[in-house]
Amino acid sequence: MIERSAGLGHPHLARPSFDAVEPDVTIDAVELRRVRLPLVAPFHTARGRQDAREAVLVHLLLAGGGDGWGECVAESEPRYSAEYTDGAETVLRQFLVPALLAWQRSHGGVTPDDVATALAPFAGHAMAKAALEMAVLDASLRVLGTSFAQRLGAVRDAIDSGVAVGLHASIADLLDTVGRHVDEGYRRVKLKIEPDADVEVVRAVRERFPDTMLQVDANGAYSLRDDHVAALRALDDFDLALVEQPLAPDDLTGHAALARQIRTPICLDESITSARTAELAVDLAACSIVNVKAGRVGGYLEAVRVHDACAARGVPVWCGGMLETGLGRAANIALAALPGFTLPGDISASARYFAEDLTEPFVLDDGRLAVPRGPGLGVSPTRSALRAFTTSVELVRDY
Ligand code: MG
Repeated sequence: MIERSAGLGHPHLARPSFDAVEPDVTIDAVELRRVRLPLVAPFHTARGRQDAREAVLVHLLLAGGGDGWGECVAESEPRYSAEYTDGAETVLRQFLVPALLAWQRSHGGVTPDDVATALAPFAGHAMAKAALEMAVLDASLRVLGTSFAQRLGAVRDAIDSGVAVGLHASIADLLDTVGRHVDEGYRRVKLKIEPDADVEVVRAVRERFPDTMLQVDANGAYSLRDDHVAALRALDDFDLALVEQPLAPDDLTGHAALARQIRTPICLDESITSARTAELAVDLAACSIVNVKAGRVGGYLEAVRVHDACAARGVPVWCGGMLETGLGRAANIALAALPGFTLPGDISASARYFAEDLTEPFVLDDGRLAVPRGPGLGVSPTRSALRAFTTSVELVRDY
């Protein structure tokens, strides 16, 4: 029925190396642009509800022309992680952008690899750092005429697309939503669960959709309490590809203990904050699958290192989603085209989230999304979308 562990048999997945030397770019100014895009439907998880996607965009303006875009995936409220939009904007304006510009002043330019080093003195704020690195990558790859996909080591021209479905008020509503996405061609459906909205929900979806690849995400809402473990064990009956982040992010030993009590593979999301924590989690047997999100690990370059660490251990990875606009979506598709991404990601068509995206829309083709091949991200915000969705703009310069 469902091919669950595709790729597990390939412990040494090679990705092509990137040989071209990235040019130093010289940043003239950094525009921090706030956007707010209405969602086509509210998105509920165990940690809250979103009606719109608010994001900070980092727009680099290069000396002598040229630019680059980054998107910060921090959400409006600090629920998924400690980062949130206003905080990310503040830390970018006050600390991260000035530190990068100071680095540029003393080194005569900036390359993508410099960004993490320049920002290393500051603790945390992985999503804000990732947005700045993404913008430098986009700017320098545009200069070079190279795509994100080529730079990161992509081996595919299109990726299988999955869809994440939030908590619903009723099972009937949920079945309607899942049915619509299955009809649209999505190759995998992920259901959000929480205690008391789990076994019956999954049973109903599995009975209605016996052949759909299904997985669940708890966003850390469970513990090792007997009733919680019993519910998670009951999910073993439904042929799920994985259960994502059942326990708290810092509870690696708890996940290892849980993994011994359930058959469904455990995948970690919030727990994985770097390649090092991915190695630790896998080596502790806390998970057998890893969700990769560039924002959560501090950037696309670290995300590639998470991929490489997992590939070396024979652990499949897939690309998570943070309700990105077309900018983040483009970068995620490039990342998900790496060889170790053997499971469909939470990278859906633009229409899953937005009536109008910030870029030209990403459209599903037979359940897949094409990997952008133009220079940099291969997409840019459209003028009309920037006009419609921008709520504020501020410029940061090195004086
Ligand atoms: Mg998750």
